Amino acid sequence: MTNIKQKIDTLQKKQWTKFISKNFASILIKWNPNSKLIKSYKNTFFGCADTLLVADNENLTTTYCKNRWCGVCNRIKTAKSINAYLPELEKLFNPVFVTLTLPTCNGDELPGRIKEMESEWRLIYQNSKKKSYLKKNNVFKGVRKAECTIRPYGMYHYHFHLILNDWQQAEWLVAQWLHRFPSASHKAQDIRFADETSFKELFKYAFKSEVKMSNENAKRFDLVFNALRNKRTFQCFGGINQIKEDFDEDELVNGIKLEGQANEIYKWCEEDWYRKSDGFGLVNKPIPQKVKDLIIEKPLN
Ligand SMILES: [Zn+2]
Repeated sequence: MTNIKQKIDTLQKKQWTKFISKNFASILIKWNPNSKLIKSYKNTFFGCADTLLVADNENLTTTYCKNRWCGVCNRIKTAKSINAYLPELEKLFNPVFVTLTLPTCNGDELPGRIKEMESEWRLIYQNSKKKSYLKKNNVFKGVRKAECTIRPYGMYHYHFHLILNDWQQAEWLVAQWLHRFPSASHKAQDIRFADETSFKELFKYAFKSEVKMSNENAKRFDLVFNALRNKRTFQCFGGINQIKEDFDEDELVNGIKLEGQANEIYKWCEEDWYRKSDGFGLVNKPIPQKVKDLIIEKPLN
């Protein structure tokens, strides 16, 4: 019984995320017709978990877009990363959560800002390999994630979150950071002890914004996705093995089986996936209003 309930819960969450994600993609397409990413936006809209096939072995299968802005794919990436990295992070000596920031910048400055922060990070990382560092500290070990949030008044905030082995290396890192970026505020750099919640927070693949998705903001989202295009935003170091950020299709369906439905096809329409043979809805429950309220416009569909 629990098993069936779990299956319905999983499918329902997928349904809600799919609904929101498709809407987000439709707005990106509509307001950024000349974007370099237009093909990828369309792939999220048309090609991500849109058609579900029940394989011969009754497992549900589909294709995914794997794009940064896709909620459907991000949920899978998050689950996969937590599985892979949580046991590694639990082995750290006394893990801390570090945030490295600079003041916000405008859209024109964003690409240069990303480049500068990444190259300074690389230099700091190289310093952590030097004798002068290793004489006083443990091996520099942890994970780093880059994020870019959209702030009000046309501003952007590119920043790093890290989990490091211990407090001492976090202090060393922040000192290096402030030395390289005199404009960075001492107060804005943050070190705190990490626990399972902060580990999970770090692996949450979600696009964070302090402005609402709206027609006017669609161009700002496009600017960020372009700035981050082809950039790796996650890195492990000091002996933690990195898993590939990409995922295989078969990892993605949480092993959902639809008994007795081999070779059936479901197609997304408006709010649910419908069975091709008889129009039966896969989730067969309406999307709650609180979820619908998260979207701005009716999807193109
Ligand atoms: Zn996707």
